[in-house]
Formats: sequence, structure tokens, C-alpha cells
Amino acid sequence: MRRFSARALRARGLARARGRFAGLPGNRAASRAPDTPYTRPVSLEIGIVGLPNVGKSTLFNALTRASALASNYPFATIEPNVGVVGIPDPRLDALARLWNSARIVPASVRFVDIAGLVRGASQGQGLGNQFLAHIRETDAICQVVRVFTDPDVSHIDGDISPERDIETIATELMLADLQTLEKAVPRLAKEAKFAKDPQRSAVADAAAKAQSVLNGGTTLFAGAAAAGIDLALLRELSLLTAKPFVYAFNVDEAELADDALRDRLAKLVAPAESVFLDAKDEAELAGLPPEEAAEMLAGLGLGEPGLDQLARAGFAALGLSTFLTAGPKEARAWTIKAGATAPEAAGVIHTDFQRGFIKAEIVSFSDLIEAGSVAAARAAGKARIEGKDYVMRDGDVVEFRHG
Ligand code: GDP
Repeated sequence: MRRFSARALRARGLARARGRFAGLPGNRAASRAPDTPYTRPVSLEIGIVGLPNVGKSTLFNALTRASALASNYPFATIEPNVGVVGIPDPRLDALARLWNSARIVPASVRFVDIAGLVRGASQGQGLGNQFLAHIRETDAICQVVRVFTDPDVSHIDGDISPERDIETIATELMLADLQTLEKAVPRLAKEAKFAKDPQRSAVADAAAKAQSVLNGGTTLFAGAAAAGIDLALLRELSLLTAKPFVYAFNVDEAELADDALRDRLAKLVAPAESVFLDAKDEAELAGLPPEEAAEMLAGLGLGEPGLDQLARAGFAALGLSTFLTAGPKEARAWTIKAGATAPEAAGVIHTDFQRGFIKAEIVSFSDLIEAGSVAAARAAGKARIEGKDYVMRDGDVVEFRHG
């Protein structure tokens, strides 16, 4: 495969990159790369990016309003550029009823507003490379894509084209990764040669392969598996296009009801997650008291706010899973990576729980609801005592025993 430097890639008008966007970032299987140990609470953080005037601030405004409403939850202090959204989970309501819990604590997703990603950003346009440092710290990237047309709101490239905007952003991220790799590949090769460590050689090899995937105009998330690259080896480089992607299509109300349009756009970015919402309506919804919000949702013909869908899509893109705990104090959903073991899950609640893990009593949510109580589930033989090798399943209701 012929290689292009970042500059050459740009000079060629990125025609190659454009021709190969069938597989945009978002391969779910790749996002489930093993990421042990699972000792720390999983704080899923999604960076929001998008071109100017696509509705990014409007959506972010909705997210921070939703955070303000959620402030009775024990979330960490919220910074101005962070919106925390709880993931609605009807299972928690059911558990809270069983235990008469004082409060409900859902799993949550943090959205971070990342300013400055415009065409040419990787070459210093706009805020230039400042945005890169912020994106590197996130677990996934959410691009807000403008679909709505409004003659009063101009588009930086003149007309409305979701396809072009998606390419523009992905291209900037690919160019940024190429810049990282241009420095890293020779350094890693040298290091591998002197270290004589097979692990370092594997990293150097993966970095070189990643460079050729990107030079071919494909993001790492889309192209790594086919190129035989284990993305876990490249984690130390924090490559941007290796992160899972979620697309938030900002549509107007008519477009929201247009199934053919939604289908076309979802296919364009598949297998990445896509969500369709009207950012203006979301901002309004997020500021309303629950009854009025429900009325507005019904009026819009929506089952739930787009923000909830967005939080769920982010959760799914990262291959996360939840287990549940309940008691008189709270009914709570905890976030773990899919595949976490019982002690790892215990460690999400408290590191002492993991260190002193003895066993876990587990009832699946559906068995618990069917039995009506933990005691009844025990009597029916549905409550299991699991040891340290148990792999958690989504919806396990758990009580940990620890020393
Ligand atoms: P940003 O530059 O991406 O942060 O875009 P803004 O959120 O500031 O939005 C730019 C303009 O578009 C503002 O005047 C918004 O009110 C408007 N806008 C945002 N979302 C929508 C939408 O869904 N429909 C319409 N018609 N206008 C919107």
C-alpha cells in the first residue's frame, strides 16, 4: 500500500479517505477489547465535537440542564464543560419499590464539551491542537452532525451535508493520529531494537500497521481488526480514531419523523452508534419539570428524550454493563466493563470490597421480581452464592460479602 504523510494526505484532498468511509469508527467488537483490571469505578466520558453552528452548544446546554436536575444524585462536582446524564433504568424503580429505598442512583455518562475541532484543526486552524489533549482523555467521541436546515443559521461550508461534515471531522482526527504516529513509529522501532522485549516489538509493529491503515484513509476503529492490529497494544499512544464513535444527528421535528432519512444516516455511520434528536427541543425538555416534559415528549411523539438515548448509545458503544444493588438507603446501578468478575465489580463500590472479597450473593433482576423478595428468591433456589471467578451479568442484583 502506498503511504502518505499527513501533509501528503491533506494535499491529495483526502479523496482516498473520502472514498473509503464505509466503515467509520464505531466497531463495537473492537471497543470491547479487554481492559482489565476493573478496579476503579468506570467513569465513562464522552467528548462532544462538531463543526461550528451544528447545534453543539444547544445540545450541551441541554446536557448541563439535565445535570442540574440530576444534582440530587451523588455525582462528582460538575465542571462547566461537563454534563452528567443519568441513564434511566426502570429496573431501579422496581428495586426501589421492593426495598422502599430512599433514593435511586442510576448509572451515568459524562459528556465533555470539546471546543475547537474545525477543518484544519490538526494543522493549527481554530484552536488548533489544543482540542487534541482534551479528546485524548475521553473514552469515546460524540460528533454532533447538523441535518436541520435553517436559512438563519449559516453553515461553515455553505450548505448542509451530514456526509461531508462527518468526513471533515474524521479526517482531522486521522491526521492528528498520523502526526502522533510519525513521531512514535521510529521511536518505538528503535526502542524495540534495543529493549529486545517481544512486548515492545509487538507495540512497534502495531504502530507501524496503524500508520498504514490511516494512510489508506481508514480510521483505526474501522480498520484495525481487518489489519490484524490489537488496539490494546496502542493504548499508550491515545490515538483518537481508535476510540468508539457515537453520532448525534441534530434534526428538526419533521426530519425526526422521517424514517427513510434516519435509516440512510444510520447506515452511513454504522456500525457506529447513531442517535437522532432535535437539540433545540432537547434543551427545552431538559429545563422542564417532569410532568411538563412528559407532555412535551408526548406532543413530539417521542417515547423518551434524545439525551437518554444518547447516554444509552454511549454506554453501548463502550461495551459497558451494569449490576444493581438495593437497600433502604438506595437502589443503585453500577457501571462495569462487560466481562468483569465479581471481585472487580465489588471494587467499583469500594476498593476494600475487592481486596477483602469473600463471596457475592447474586439474584438476577428477573428472578428477583418474579420471586418478589430476596428471601423468596433464596427459598426458590434462585439466589446464588458466587466466588471470585464469577463473571458478572447485566442486571445481576448483588450483595457482596467481604472481610
Ligand atoms: P454550535 O456552534 O455548534 O455550538 O451551534 P449552536 O448550538 O450555537 O447553534 C447554532 C444556531 O443553530 C443557534 O442559533 C441555535 O439556536 C440553532 N440551532 C441549534 N439546534 C437547532 C435545531 O435543531 N434546529 C434549528 N432550527 N436551529 C437549531
